[in-house]
Amino acid sequence: MLFKGISASAGIAIGKAFVIEDEDFCPVKRNIAKDEVKKEVEKFRKAISDTKADFEKIKAAASKHLGKKHIKLFDAYLFIADDPVLKSEVVSKITKELINAEYALYEVIEENAKVFEKIKDEYFRERGKDIYDVGKKIMKHLTGVHKKTLADVKENSIVFADNLTPADTILMKNENVIGFATNQGGKTSHTAIMAQAMEIPAVVGMKDITSNVTHNDIIIIDGNEGVVIVKPDPETLENYHRRLKNYQTEVKELSQFVNVPAVTSDGKKIIVAANIEIPEEVRSVISHGAEGIGLFRTEYLFINRAEFPSEQEQFESYSQVVEKVFPNPVVIRTIDLGGDKLLPYFNINVERNPFMGLRAIRFCLKYPEIFKIQLRAILRASVFGNVKMMYPMISGVDELRAANVILDEVKQELKSKSVQFDENMEVGVMIEIPSAALTVDLLAKDADFLSIGTNDLIQYTLAVDRVNEYVTHLYEPLHLSVIRLLKNIVDAGHKEGKWVSMCGEMAGDPAYTEILLGLGIEHFSMGAASVLRVKKNITKTNFAGAKKITEEILNEASRELLIQKINQRKGH
Ligand code: PEP
Ligand code: MG
Repeated sequence: MLFKGISASAGIAIGKAFVIEDEDFCPVKRNIAKDEVKKEVEKFRKAISDTKADFEKIKAAASKHLGKKHIKLFDAYLFIADDPVLKSEVVSKITKELINAEYALYEVIEENAKVFEKIKDEYFRERGKDIYDVGKKIMKHLTGVHKKTLADVKENSIVFADNLTPADTILMKNENVIGFATNQGGKTSHTAIMAQAMEIPAVVGMKDITSNVTHNDIIIIDGNEGVVIVKPDPETLENYHRRLKNYQTEVKELSQFVNVPAVTSDGKKIIVAANIEIPEEVRSVISHGAEGIGLFRTEYLFINRAEFPSEQEQFESYSQVVEKVFPNPVVIRTIDLGGDKLLPYFNINVERNPFMGLRAIRFCLKYPEIFKIQLRAILRASVFGNVKMMYPMISGVDELRAANVILDEVKQELKSKSVQFDENMEVGVMIEIPSAALTVDLLAKDADFLSIGTNDLIQYTLAVDRVNEYVTHLYEPLHLSVIRLLKNIVDAGHKEGKWVSMCGEMAGDPAYTEILLGLGIEHFSMGAASVLRVKKNITKTNFAGAKKITEEILNEASRELLIQKINQRKGH
């Protein structure tokens, strides 16, 4: 049985299915005798202490793998599990109503969580979910029914789940998990990004894959193609064992490119940098031979926690990355919150079209005080290495200027307090909205560099939601409109003497390397796992030849013919 989904992280794995079950939360009510009260209360107290021990364990794993800043969620869980009011309400129900601990807990959790659910403020509403999460954990210990969770994963497992939370993903950072597939999710979900950082194959948006697999089924997961094969026949299995071997050989061979500079066959030096989400990924950036960081998506420091990170916390994260990557540059992108990256602790109204809503620079210009904290942290970190900064989702020159006015205010404040920063720090803009691509000649005058975000540029140009699994087939990076916009951006940037980078997923796909070189892109930035493959392609490409091919296809109206032409050229 072959199932198709959305490829979220590359690689092939063959293993056994491990299906995560949803924990239900509906115990049976049982009346108890008075002399059973003590036993039930003790059982409840033990469940609380076991739950707390579990959270401490996850918290330690989170802090080890993701850094101390990501553990606040577990602090919040621990706080709820230890809440004296919640505990005394349960004990009082057991004692006064003479009911079993499970049912007493169930009632208390339901009552408390419902109060939160009714609250309009999103932050408090989210706290209701936390209460449920903690309640489920306590219930698991009370009932002794241990459903399969990530902690039980045996070696060589491919995990199947309806959805995976960031907390789950952290637990998967163990050698036993060799891949995962989920019913929900898009290519850019936090879970998918973590899978790439962990370099395990993942397929998401599989709709109802969990109902088509059972524990221990033999599974092939092909993250390159976005495919999961359940109980493959011997022929398919053999075929995939061969593919896996070839893939592993290829990965090994690629390692020879770690220290090879990315130079085309006719001598043009290209920069290949990496994208990161969290500081811990720097290790992988260096081991894959990337020349610096072309996109640091700082919003990941803001999500998956209970409050905004302080200026000091941000400063420490940024300077830590900058120091490690020095003398190579780090392009820090100011927060791109909104869209699919929401903050449970900050009240943004639920939007009908969040990708076209209060996102990124729009959010920052609306809440300058939040923006300024980040700008201060970035400027302070700039003296520790080679820092550049860029704004996401700029739609035109006025927005860039508005952001720069705030930046200037922050610089003045720092100067007045004699705080050091790099006065020459380059400030660039992401070109990821068609309006910016069409007025890029103006933006290129004000900006120090341009960085093309194809993930968004393509979704807005083609009107195809990038996280919607139903329109993925329409998401076409080679659409002539996209190619023309890319050409416009590169030419405008170069005309003003500015460097132009591409940091969207298109830059990391080796299928597009030649055409991007042909368009004049000289700076690439991508997930660290793609760096070597793209470097290899660059060394095989003739820069002048690539330019010629690109000129030919720039006027090709039919997408089919365009792709055919590219493939024919490759055959030569
Ligand atoms: C992009 O849009 O291409 C990009 C790099 O930014 P993000 O994926 O974070 O929106
Ligand atoms: Mg973007």
